[in-house]
Amino acid sequence: MKRPYNFSAGPAVMPAEVLQQAAAEMLDWHGSGMSVMEMSHRGKEFISIYERAEADLRELLAVPAHFRILFMQGGGLAENAIVPLNLSGGGVVDFVVTGSWSQKSIKEARRFCDARLAASNEADHHTSLPDPASWRLSADARYVHLCTNETIHGIEFHELPDLKALGCEAPLVIDFSSHVASRPVDWSRVGLAFGGAQKNLGPAGVTLVVVREDLIGHAMPHCPSAFDYRVVADNHSMYNTPPTYAIYMAGLTFQWLKQQGGIAAMEQRNIAKASLLYDYIDGSQFYLNKVTPDCRSRMNVPFLLRDESRNEDFLAGAKSQGLLQLKGHKSVGGMRASIYNAMPLEGVQALVAYMREFERTQS
Ligand SMILES: *Cc1c(COP(=O)(O)O)cnc(C)c1O
Repeated sequence: MKRPYNFSAGPAVMPAEVLQQAAAEMLDWHGSGMSVMEMSHRGKEFISIYERAEADLRELLAVPAHFRILFMQGGGLAENAIVPLNLSGGGVVDFVVTGSWSQKSIKEARRFCDARLAASNEADHHTSLPDPASWRLSADARYVHLCTNETIHGIEFHELPDLKALGCEAPLVIDFSSHVASRPVDWSRVGLAFGGAQKNLGPAGVTLVVVREDLIGHAMPHCPSAFDYRVVADNHSMYNTPPTYAIYMAGLTFQWLKQQGGIAAMEQRNIAKASLLYDYIDGSQFYLNKVTPDCRSRMNVPFLLRDESRNEDFLAGAKSQGLLQLKGHKSVGGMRASIYNAMPLEGVQALVAYMREFERTQS
């Protein structure tokens, strides 16, 4: 069966091999007589799944030994509260607002700490990134928050800021939900990274948190125990029942990523996919992407038809060609093609071929 190409922003396309393996193991995982969904999270079968997933992720993302990997619940949005509850002590936190997701983060954090706006790109409608040299960082900030890939606006930090070089000793917290595992991470510049799995790691239901050891153990007294990084880390993410099936699926995805050659190989493919699409859009008189070229996202590519009255025709035609979920987010309009790790180059080629043909038949 040839499956359509799915450009959803999330929950998003998964590798077909992973779905096939999960289907084959659905009723009986490795001769255990159980589906992974039916296993105790404390049994040796699930523990082996969990330990392999964690080890594979640590290897893939080259997570240093002084960082802990936590599998939590509540998604990126819950982390908008959980991070300040654990790291802020109710004090000052600096936010760099670059789009909808970091906007949500500062709004939620205001409930728990003195959240300050260090920089924003709102004036240019979230189409470029504010230069780190211009950020107004607070001397007493407990941490600095940024979203390294704004899924809705399609803008990405291609290099993490070096806060120390900016005279700031506070740790950097990044929301990397929508580009985790698409490129290597420079952990020397990061204190904590979080992301929901449903963009690039697996199905919804599990949230990845990678946190430097020294940032654990400072939760505010009213932080719920299940969200206290000390409690979660000490219990190996099993203080409460973890989302076992989602962790298993993410684990299969990590194995698939290793078979693909790891994160550096994925990055090269992601560069090739994104370049193909952006180059076509830039060369066309029919389509338009408004993001400054040096910060365009490799994962989420928003684009407009210059004649917006043709949007519905474009989407209907795409669907009939097996190109799914291309409608843009309502706050930006137009189209959005999310081209995560599991989207093959052939999918982007098919999209560009369709766009070219649509342009030809319309003019
Ligand atoms: C999708 C997304 C979120 C929200 O994740 P939930 O799992 O829905 O809470 C947060 N940040 C970014 C960058 C996202 O792409």
